[in-house]
Amino acid sequence: MSNVSICLFCQIANSTIPVKRLAENDDALAFPDINPQAPVHILVIPKKHIASHADAMPEDTALLGNLLAFAGQVAREQKLENGYRLVINTGPDSGQTVEHLHIHLLGGRHMTWPPG
Ligand code: 5GP
Ligand code: ZN
Repeated sequence: MSNVSICLFCQIANSTIPVKRLAENDDALAFPDINPQAPVHILVIPKKHIASHADAMPEDTALLGNLLAFAGQVAREQKLENGYRLVINTGPDSGQTVEHLHIHLLGGRHMTWPPG
């Protein structure tokens, strides 16, 4: 899905599709995953359309850094004192299903390693 106008997460970012907006700033948005895999499962996305981590360009470096810091702020707001996991599925081998860069913030339970 490379067409920004039909991208699911672009439509969420621009409010065409409503979600519970847990936190946002000019460049990023956090909202609950529709199919949670942990007691806390939040998606953190850039408002700019970037199809995947592999599609981020050098000019996106500040955006990526700010996105990671924003995810940390959301984790603090969720009071995940025991820790949490950030996941960025990228491409077919990872199981990425939505082609708009997103960070999964997972917490509220113990997680195993390695992932499946
Ligand atoms: P991926 O598999 O690409 O890493 O993650 C995509 C995530 O988006 C999945 O965890 C899936 O549950 C979530 N998701 C897919 N469609 C929607 C939606 O319409 N709303 C929300 N809130 N999450 C969605
Ligand atoms: Zn998009």
